[in-house]
Amino acid sequence: MERTLTIIKPDAVAAGHIGDIIKIFEANQLTIKAARLVSLTKKEAEGFYAVHRGKGFFESLTTFMSSGPALAMVLEGDDAIARLRKLMGATNPANAEEGTIRKLHAQDIEHNAVHGSDAPETAAFEIAYFFPGVELA
Ligand code: ATP
Ligand code: MG
Repeated sequence: MERTLTIIKPDAVAAGHIGDIIKIFEANQLTIKAARLVSLTKKEAEGFYAVHRGKGFFESLTTFMSSGPALAMVLEGDDAIARLRKLMGATNPANAEEGTIRKLHAQDIEHNAVHGSDAPETAAFEIAYFFPGVELA
C-alpha cells in the first residue's frame, strides 16, 4: 500500500467536478484517508509549489491555486502515486489521454483540475503540508 496527495484544484471545485473526480478515485481502488477543503493563501500556495519557484508560470500558478477553495486529500492504494498520475493524464490537457481526469475536466496547462504527488518523497512532504499531525483514517 502506498499513499499520495491529491488536490482537486480551484478550477474543478468551482466548476462542480468534485463528485466526478472522487468517483474516478473510488472506481480505481484509491481510498480516501483524509480530506480537507482549503482556501490557500498566496504564501501557502508558494510554499506548496516551492520547487517551481523561479519558473515563468510560478506567479500565475500560485495566484490560481489561491483563487478559491481546493480539496486536498490523502489517497491510499497499491502503487497509488503512479496510478493516480495515470488517471490524471498529461499536465497539458491537450496531450491527455481519453478518459483521464484532465482530458475530462481541465481547461489548459495551468488550470488542469488536479494535482498528484510525483514520488514517495514529494508525497511525504505534501501530505505533511496539508495534514500536519493528523492521524489518517
Ligand atoms: P501537479 O504537480 O499539479 O500534479 P504536474 O506534475 O503534471 O502537475 P508540474 O510540472 O509539477 O506538473 O507543474 C505543476 C503545476 O504547474 C501544473 O499542474 C500546472 O498547474 C502548472 N504548470 C506546469 N507547467 C506550466 C506551464 N508551462 N504553464 C502554466 N502552468 C504550468
Ligand atoms: Mg508536479
